[in-house]
Amino acid sequence: MVHDAARPFLNAGHIQALLQGLGGADGAILALPVADTVKREMPGNIETAQREGLWRAQTPQAFRTQPLRDAYGAWSDDRPPTDEAGVMEAVGGVVRLVPGDPMLFKLTYPEDFAMAERLAGAARVTRTGQGIDAHRLGPGDGVWLCGIKIAHDRELIGHSDADAGLHAITDAILGAIGEGDIGDHFPPTDPQWKGAPSHIFLSHAADLVRQRGGALINVDVTLVCEKPKIKPHRQAMREKLSEILGLPVDRISVKATTTEGMGYTGREEGILAQAIASVETPV
Ligand code: MG
Repeated sequence: MVHDAARPFLNAGHIQALLQGLGGADGAILALPVADTVKREMPGNIETAQREGLWRAQTPQAFRTQPLRDAYGAWSDDRPPTDEAGVMEAVGGVVRLVPGDPMLFKLTYPEDFAMAERLAGAARVTRTGQGIDAHRLGPGDGVWLCGIKIAHDRELIGHSDADAGLHAITDAILGAIGEGDIGDHFPPTDPQWKGAPSHIFLSHAADLVRQRGGALINVDVTLVCEKPKIKPHRQAMREKLSEILGLPVDRISVKATTTEGMGYTGREEGILAQAIASVETPV
């Protein structure tokens, strides 16, 4: 089978129809009857051409392998063939016509790309999810936040490395694809996640998006704490998230705020993270 990558809307049905249509012939091609009236430009005028019996050849095209090799070996024209069926016809091979599909249109002009993008976009939806996580602070030598260890006189306490930033983003991604929450996938009662680095959880959520044929669009996380100061570490966090998620840095936002001394984050009892993620998936 030969296909032209400039016709991206190929599906399994096209291939099945082609193989059925091949029968005992040397080849079969998908083709559409010419529906428009066809004109020929002549010196000083135009004339109407007969369109009866005219077909527009598409791809994929199917051939028996050895007859196609032989036909290529016998091709003697200086000009390259415009399709494989033409090579087969030239040696008298029998090629069958199988009803094609307008969706197999060829991307040639800028307007073809615009139409293809509209068609591809129509088959996908954008989903958004949010996630919140908080962990308690206790005596220690540093906190893990968004995959970066920041030196501090406290640490975040939790079953894993207690990276509230990664946990919030993980929940946001799981939320966007309706896959429950981080505790469903990595139960805190399971000893294998004790002290686990949280990038494992985030990678898993990103994998689930890809397994559905989806793609992350962007993530945005806000860390809420008085200390440590987040700003000096923001770029390193974005780069770490970029590495874990396989997403460009400009699709990743890390922000920080305080609560001006109010509440548990203000009293430095714990750190809160809140995240939003957008993904696009097939409908
Ligand atoms: Mg957590």
